[in-house]
Amino acid sequence: MNENDSERMMAILKHLNYKTTKNLHEADMVILNTCSIRNRAEQKVYSALGRLKKLKTDKPELIIGVGGCVAQQEGERLLKRVPHLDIVFGTHNIHCLPDLMKKVKVERNRVAVTEFVDSIEEESFAYAYAEDYSGSQSQRVKAFVAAMRGCDNFCSYCIVPYVRGREMSRKSADILQEVNRLAESNIKEVTLVGQNVNSYGNKEEDISFTGLLKAVCRVNGIERVRFMTSHPKDMSEELIELFGEEDKLCRHIHLPVQSGSNIILEKMKRGYTREDYLNKACKLKRLYPEIGITSDIIVGFPGETEAQFLETMSLIQEVEFDNIFSFKYSPRPETEAAAFDDHIPEPIKEERLDILQKMQRDITLRKNQKMVGQIVDILIEGKSKTAKGASHTANNQLMGRTSCNKAVNISGDDAYVGKIVPVRIEKASVNSLLGFIVKNREERIHVCC
Ligand code: SAH
Ligand code: SF4
Repeated sequence: MNENDSERMMAILKHLNYKTTKNLHEADMVILNTCSIRNRAEQKVYSALGRLKKLKTDKPELIIGVGGCVAQQEGERLLKRVPHLDIVFGTHNIHCLPDLMKKVKVERNRVAVTEFVDSIEEESFAYAYAEDYSGSQSQRVKAFVAAMRGCDNFCSYCIVPYVRGREMSRKSADILQEVNRLAESNIKEVTLVGQNVNSYGNKEEDISFTGLLKAVCRVNGIERVRFMTSHPKDMSEELIELFGEEDKLCRHIHLPVQSGSNIILEKMKRGYTREDYLNKACKLKRLYPEIGITSDIIVGFPGETEAQFLETMSLIQEVEFDNIFSFKYSPRPETEAAAFDDHIPEPIKEERLDILQKMQRDITLRKNQKMVGQIVDILIEGKSKTAKGASHTANNQLMGRTSCNKAVNISGDDAYVGKIVPVRIEKASVNSLLGFIVKNREERIHVCC
């Protein structure tokens, strides 16, 4: 979601004749798009702002702005705390950037705006700027498209509803127009994003989420469709069945479980049980053996006992996730759980995280190794990370992804970028796979996990 927001900021700034630069010293303006999901992410913002102080002293006309969740959370306070900061704009105020910059450049004011947009018309207007993407995206193969934003769930640990506001879905016509424009500029894969994307349209009189996915799959030129993040309680039967109906819909789902203990899930206010989750995950695996399932886990939620932590470990073993993002619980302002009185000591959280990540690495490696020898379709996205950082000898290394979202490195020239090619997997590690392009698509085997 943040990446998508950054793209919108860049599209708006392009209208104002700004270009991006990798050289900080060359910049006329620096914008930090921030995250406050955990305390560590928030602290990074203050360190980054600290580093920018000298730059501003040397170049007083430099404009420094902070957007995103920390801006939303702190507002005016951030301006007071950081005297060299010019602009603070909240999560719903990206479209205000031109006005805010005018206030800074012409009127020489320092400004903060953190107002929530709460009508679908305003929402539609807020996205309109970002439609002029064609130029900036021509080098790319895939793009994010916001389907909805905000969240109404108020999980007891989570700051998102406070900094992103209430759930609001974009009009399907606007989303489809954006996807069509992306297709025209040669984008091959779109990911519909939202804090809780599979509750798209629950509050609006528009098409359902599965209806939206079907419509996106119909767009000519788009070859792959993904979505994230899905909430387990909103994972409908219709959505599960759609994976079997739409060839363009990638066989991957990010389905955060957070904990394997019913007591903790209830304290987290997640709205499902361990059994509900396992039923859905098992159904997905039974119907689509090739599907990749990934998840998010929080360890050390207040009151989490050793036995409850072990329930999370056993759920991970039972589902055999392809990968997980795992975090130590971090108390966040305004949230219910921050006021609980049974917080877990840091060293215990660290130990649990360590044990859990080690187990998941073994599972990921085992699942990746099962793919060795198989032939799978890869959408080539561009140069691999190693090639980008390496000397000219290794620069024909490309990177692509399987439908189930595993990264695969292959050798090949740039002509393959943006193409879906059959690749035989040769080697597997925890983080990626290595393969080579094969000529005969008929050999392709449909099992990748
Ligand atoms: N909407 C998604 C999650 C969005 S936040 C869902 O409900 O599943 C991304 C992830 O950050 C969460 O899945 C959770 O694992 C983690 N997270 C959120 N708040 C956290 C906190 N206070 N401490 C640690 N991790 C947190
Ligand atoms: Fe946060 Fe996700 Fe819960 Fe919403 S559903 S409150 S975004 S964890």
